[in-house]
Amino acid sequence: MKTSTCKCGGSIKLDRCLTEGFLVECMKCDKCGDTLFTPEQAKQIIKLREANKEIEGKRKIIKVGSSIAALLPKKVELYGVKEGVVDSIKVLSSNSLEVKFDKDIV
Ligand SMILES: [Zn+2]
Repeated sequence: MKTSTCKCGGSIKLDRCLTEGFLVECMKCDKCGDTLFTPEQAKQIIKLREANKEIEGKRKIIKVGSSIAALLPKKVELYGVKEGVVDSIKVLSSNSLEVKFDKDIV
């Protein structure tokens, strides 16, 4: 990925940023912090927006043996999410968890 120069003189590099609540790749100036999206990155945001429209809503957490399980809508299967091992889980914010898979689902 080539780096370009911002109007402030800083260099614009590939970064990750939070937009509309989505953690996505973006291009960010290392000096003024301005962010912009390439057409591919903008497309990714649209895909995430559509995926969320499909699966959003309140869900339940149930007890399974000594663990608990979050019930996901069946529609997430369309994105390749299946029962099995999750790569990692971490606390993302004061009221959210990130469930990370070893491959892209969107
Ligand atoms: Zn800048």
